[in-house]
Amino acid sequence: MSTVFALANQKGGVGKTTSSVNLAASLAATRKRVLLVDIDPQGNATSGSGVDKHETEYTVYDVLVDDVPIEQAIVGTPEGSGFDLLAANGDLTAAEVQLLDMDRREYRLREALHRVRARYDYILVDCPPSLNMLTVNALTAANSVIVPIQCEYYALEGLTALLDTIDKISKVLNPSLHIGGLLRTMYDPRNSLSNDVSNQLISHFGDKVYRTIIPRNVRLAEAPSHGAPVISYDAKSRGAISYLALAGEILRREQALNQSKQAQQAKV
Ligand code: ADP
Ligand code: MG
Repeated sequence: MSTVFALANQKGGVGKTTSSVNLAASLAATRKRVLLVDIDPQGNATSGSGVDKHETEYTVYDVLVDDVPIEQAIVGTPEGSGFDLLAANGDLTAAEVQLLDMDRREYRLREALHRVRARYDYILVDCPPSLNMLTVNALTAANSVIVPIQCEYYALEGLTALLDTIDKISKVLNPSLHIGGLLRTMYDPRNSLSNDVSNQLISHFGDKVYRTIIPRNVRLAEAPSHGAPVISYDAKSRGAISYLALAGEILRREQALNQSKQAQQAKV
């Protein structure tokens, strides 16, 4: 059964999409079976994965709103990326409103993903920059939330609202939801603000902050215009190496979590 990660932060431009695409490719590079779900109407994860967001027959919109079977909507990504994609485009803007009138509106993504969870080791969901019904669907479907945080001005602003939302969803809709980790992105060690933000995060959240830091790296910004994850575009770049390191850290953390669960069960 797969682990579902939502990459969420209602601030825009913090590295959600960059992290979703590159983590998907990095997990796939370790031979894990990975599905990336784009649930942002901007469709940046779709185009950044090398898929034309206006050419796919079905997108996540059709799955959420029109009950198109998810198996029919999932597409492959160009060779070298190694993961599957459930695409998004501007159609999804309408879904935010349409979902409000639907039955089990918070569970639409969860129920769709249920059909394919045995096929993947990891499912990553790239959220839009808001706490709307699409993000609620992602958090209701997820086991774990990755929160990308840009190590720059106002990084911590809005974090409380996100943590409150996660807390509410875990109490009401999805008891298995927890915070996988806070991910420092666009880190520039020459910038003292980057260091301040990083130190603040560690003092507030301790072990919840991933040890891996994603540096500011121009290759990460260039790769989407080539429709490729950075490990296909420039495998030796610092961006590529840091996302591979993050995939390793996530795999190790998950192993440790499973072992402690097993140990607890053995005690009972
Ligand atoms: P979000 O999905 O949170 O809105 P994006 O992943 O789209 O954020 O990133 C915002 C912008 O910053 C994009 O232009 C992206 O290419 C760039 N970017 C993201 N992470 C990095 C990084 N580590 N180094 C350099 N540029 C980055
Ligand atoms: Mg994005």
